[in-house]
Amino acid sequence: MLVRRIAPHRAAALRLAGRLPAPVADILIAVTGASRHCVFCGETATLTLEHVLPHWMVSDEATGNNTIYVRESGGPDHEPFRDARRGPSRDLKAKAVCEACNSGWMQELDNALHVLGPQLLKGKTVHLAKGKQQALAKWAAKFAFTLQLVYPRGGRFVIPAADYRLMGDGQLPGEGMRLWVGYMEPPGKRGGPVLGFAEHRHDELFYDGPLLERLGLDPALACKGYSATIRFGYCVIGLLRLPHPELLAVHALGSPRQWVAIWPAVGTRSCPPREPMTPVVGLSPRVAGRRPTRAPTGQTPR
Ligand SMILES: [Zn+2]
Repeated sequence: MLVRRIAPHRAAALRLAGRLPAPVADILIAVTGASRHCVFCGETATLTLEHVLPHWMVSDEATGNNTIYVRESGGPDHEPFRDARRGPSRDLKAKAVCEACNSGWMQELDNALHVLGPQLLKGKTVHLAKGKQQALAKWAAKFAFTLQLVYPRGGRFVIPAADYRLMGDGQLPGEGMRLWVGYMEPPGKRGGPVLGFAEHRHDELFYDGPLLERLGLDPALACKGYSATIRFGYCVIGLLRLPHPELLAVHALGSPRQWVAIWPAVGTRSCPPREPMTPVVGLSPRVAGRRPTRAPTGQTPR
């Protein structure tokens, strides 16, 4: 029997086009893409399977009965949302990371959340000192980046490859990133046994020259940014990536009382925020908020 080799990117493209059944494409991508560069450190190595959901998110202790409600879609390729499903947590895995990164700094970020993560998942009141804000923000950024890796290579276009390398170098989250935490009741609390819930989405943001000019900013700053929104249990985290700090002038939180800033980390902040978010299933695009100010007054999200 003649078996033709197929490149991973080709399999991913066929998968997206619906010309190759997803399970077959995923096997091809996994087999043929076994030895590539690690997205974070760039080393050529055998890539390992990264468990995307940390142990504390899916453990019996965290969810009571090892049940988590995972929204399957809402990723970077803007495909229509599929229905959420209930059942044992799907062990989301991504194969794009080397062993050294996977069991090194990535594992450390997961472990740093082993107390705080379950508290946020259960909606408990916590006081976030500067160190906890930093740990949460770094973990959340890593989580958002890793979630994009769950998708076929052809669908990973919101977070650029350069940003993965910056994160691998410890430069992200940095000056050009903002993160907030919010509170939203998970579905099924009163109607069923759902104790955990997770969904996410990634959205591109385009700052074109004419838009910036209308806002009184230099059109030479035209660029692409992105936002990511993550939800697990009661916790919602919004991430905003701005290539230029000047672009903060066009961003303001729609409902600042529903958010607590965690990056940049400052002082001690209390969670949940003063106001909960209205429970929904299906995160809104850019729930972190995008609202042009009347003038570039330097107003920034708190
Ligand atoms: Zn690596």
